[in-house]
Amino acid sequence: MRVLRDWSLRHARGLARVYAGAARLAPWLAPLARRVGVPRFGRWLAPVEHAAKGLFFDCQMCGDCALSVTGLACPMNCGKQMRNGPCGGVRANGHCELRPGQRCTWLEAGEGDVRMQGGAQGEHRPSWRERVAPLDRRRTGQSSWIRVISADQARRAAGPDVAQAAAPSGPFEQACREWHRSGRFIVTVEIAPPDSPDPAALLQRAARFAGLVDAINITDGAGANCHMSSVAAASVLAAAGCTPVCQVGCRDRNRIALQGDVLGAAALGVRNVLCLTGDDVSQGDHPEAKPVFDLDAVNLLHILRGMSERGEYASGRRLEQAPRLFLGATANPFVPPYADRVANLERKIDAGARFIQTQFCFDLGLIEDFMREVRARGLHERAAIIVGVGTLASAKALRWMAEHVPGVHVPQAVTERIAAAADQKAEGQRVAIETIHALRRIEGVAGVHLMGHKNEAALAQIIAESGLRQAPQAAAVA
Ligand code: SF4
Repeated sequence: MRVLRDWSLRHARGLARVYAGAARLAPWLAPLARRVGVPRFGRWLAPVEHAAKGLFFDCQMCGDCALSVTGLACPMNCGKQMRNGPCGGVRANGHCELRPGQRCTWLEAGEGDVRMQGGAQGEHRPSWRERVAPLDRRRTGQSSWIRVISADQARRAAGPDVAQAAAPSGPFEQACREWHRSGRFIVTVEIAPPDSPDPAALLQRAARFAGLVDAINITDGAGANCHMSSVAAASVLAAAGCTPVCQVGCRDRNRIALQGDVLGAAALGVRNVLCLTGDDVSQGDHPEAKPVFDLDAVNLLHILRGMSERGEYASGRRLEQAPRLFLGATANPFVPPYADRVANLERKIDAGARFIQTQFCFDLGLIEDFMREVRARGLHERAAIIVGVGTLASAKALRWMAEHVPGVHVPQAVTERIAAAADQKAEGQRVAIETIHALRRIEGVAGVHLMGHKNEAALAQIIAESGLRQAPQAAAVA
């Protein structure tokens, strides 16, 4: 099976032609399908389709076939069932975050797509741009061919660009707009919600960043570990006058729960929402939990944009009042497939992201390459690109993170520099400050996003020492 699937990917161009030829025959079958009844004809086709596509593409019969836009690599073989490009957890060797023994399906999809365009790897980039809509789970096991025959092609739905609302939703959107106008560098910071129902500790940690940051991210079950929900923690901060960014991941909730949570957060004053697909559960404190992944980040963005701009749920049902949201997404330029990361980013911006926060940047060469392509496509003018910067207390902690946290890349030279220092913590902070200075010089970088688990004091010090902001005399939270 695997051998045939590899053969199909290698011969994607030829097979795509065969497929296109067969699709041209579809209208000829339409009268027959109508005569016997489209549903019944579909039931006859399903086993034939399963046998043929199962053999060549390891097809899982999702009933919503996307092979023609995924380089003939079935996205149902992706551990998170991503419909719109790779997640940020692809391993350095190109293998899957969830299944280390297997190549990432989206690397195969990229190669297949390049072959379908008639190019060799390196000459062409995957043509992904069109958003692939979320799966309609009612179609599982049904024929996709019948939809071609009966001309029912509602699978893809590229939306128009997001119209910028007249007034910003709050201070963070204002800061992102200001960067576009005046170049004022944006500073955000990330804190994990507490393991307690008492909000006092959370507020105390947030207060460290008074006047130092434009917004505070609240993680959503980061690393698949359980904490207070990001919606609740972000609401606590909003009520205290802070500007939270509520992270919302697709791992733990289906589309019904996600929309309900974002609407509830908006009711509690939370406007900034960062859409994520989410990490695998196996690395967290509940590895036995069932991952959901009903949506990927691109489709979540599109749905939330629909709620905010059109006042509609994903189902099309009208909301009584549309929430005013400022939407963002993540990017990870530091893991494979490097060349496709900008195409992935573009898809998120097309879907509605207006700010982007990246994974930790320890490799300036990779971010420079990424930003070159971002500028070539003009993406920095459509969204504020905020680059992740972090610090850890020791080289040992850095090594652990590089080995255990999916999507984190730390060059050996950085670890060795910190390991050789007499004061490793101070050296880690010096690396972070140097990184911030270097990022400020890269055209198109709008700001930095500081991360460091329960390390608020060090992060506040880095912000002040790097000259990004002056610590205020009086406390006035972000
Ligand atoms: S690395 Fe991520 S995108 Fe690639 S196959 Fe695994 S889960 Fe899917």
